[in-house]
Amino acid sequence: PPTPAPASRPRVLPLVSRLYQPSNLRDVGPDSRLQGEQTCKSQRLMQQAGLIYPSNPGCYYYLPSTVRSMEKLVRVIDQEMQAVGGQKLDMPSLCSADLWRTSQRWELMGKELFRLKDRHGADYCLGPTHEEAVTTLVSHQSTLSHRQLPLLLYQITRKFRDEPKPKLGLLRGREFYMKDMYSFDVSEEAAHQTYESVCEAYTRLFTRLGLRCVQVQADTGNIGGTLSHEFQLPADIGEDKLLVCGSCSFSANVETLSADQTDCPKCKTGTLAQSKGIEVGHTFYLGKKYSQMFNAAFSNSQNKPTIIEMGCYGLGVTRILAAAIEVLSTEDEIRWPDLLAPYQVCVLPPKKGSKADEASSLAVEMAHSLGEALPRLKGEVVLDDRTHMTIGKRLKDAKRLGYPYVIVVGQGALEEQPKFEVICQKNEETVFLTKDGLLDLL
Ligand code: ATP
Ligand code: MG
Ligand code: MG
Ligand code: MG
Repeated sequence: PPTPAPASRPRVLPLVSRLYQPSNLRDVGPDSRLQGEQTCKSQRLMQQAGLIYPSNPGCYYYLPSTVRSMEKLVRVIDQEMQAVGGQKLDMPSLCSADLWRTSQRWELMGKELFRLKDRHGADYCLGPTHEEAVTTLVSHQSTLSHRQLPLLLYQITRKFRDEPKPKLGLLRGREFYMKDMYSFDVSEEAAHQTYESVCEAYTRLFTRLGLRCVQVQADTGNIGGTLSHEFQLPADIGEDKLLVCGSCSFSANVETLSADQTDCPKCKTGTLAQSKGIEVGHTFYLGKKYSQMFNAAFSNSQNKPTIIEMGCYGLGVTRILAAAIEVLSTEDEIRWPDLLAPYQVCVLPPKKGSKADEASSLAVEMAHSLGEALPRLKGEVVLDDRTHMTIGKRLKDAKRLGYPYVIVVGQGALEEQPKFEVICQKNEETVFLTKDGLLDLL
């Protein structure tokens, strides 16, 4: 028999006084514990707002509001990856050295690989990426048919890289979240089509997040393969140098061009403008590089075993979060992509003992009713119950944290036709609205 639904619980509003967001500027202020480590705006804002808390170099506690944002980001990534046929799985982080020796990356990766031994002395690494693991998995399926391809497998998991210089908060960590997808196709032509469709999915993803990324021709590094693009978010703090042609669609990471290249290698006439970018995604066409090594094959239409064509596609999940804050925020107020703000609305009741105090219950009612009237706001409204503080002080905090909408319940709420002050963080606009007007706006 089906389990009965749990009895409905009393409604609980998230209260600002109870949100766990410990501010910590120890690593980004003048007395920095990490002498000399490069910091940046997003790191400072995220530590100040209690979104992240430094643990050891390159590692952070992701505090509750960040986890809410991450979950939202993961949902959007899932939608876009599944729209192109991606199936989500989860692979072990503890990776056997044998696989990495087979691909020769046990040596090639050098010090970037976190290595460890088990109690029997066997070597392992903490996965920095999963080409070896996923190709082994697919190679074990002896009956993989051409009818099952393309196959796209992806995961969103922690990756480990012993970066020589972890810095800039979540932009360059030693332990971070990545979405990594791997594609398996019957032919080079099919693999190129899959490659294109994933690049389009990346473009859609960044458009939905309101981030203007550029897709540039890129180097294949130690992942390998023959065709590769990076998705770069233009920003001064970015560590990659980009060249974009003023006359045609050519754009590239400088790493791919010879040092003396000035004019455009595509149209030959345009001049290349240099800018800086944060690498938020990277796609690779791998061909048979890994499938050959691990003997990953499918049976073709003549039932003949054939080596699979592969591609791989990374997205820096935690890096995207920090990069978005980096490019959208002001020096002291966080701005989120609408889809990722930890909470959408903050309601400010009047100060205790003020002239408008009578409107307190209206504010509580307002905070509850928004989530009920608008399904997309369910669980997205917080009440700043620190009514011993002035509206002004709490408003400043709310702006700093970047709630897309702040609703002030003050004097106006006591008028015959109650009005509320609504601050829209994105366009810096303040409007006075009735409850109906407010519901329309939201
Ligand atoms: P970078 O050039 O910044 O070192 P990468 O080229 O080594 O990055 P990839 O192997 O292409 O990284 O990994 C896929 C994605 O993972 C990158 O595009 C980036 O968004 C993210 N990423 C890589 N390294 C880090 C890191 N140390 N911290 C956070 N995100 C990272
Ligand atoms: Mg790297
Ligand atoms: Mg790179
Ligand atoms: Mg890369």
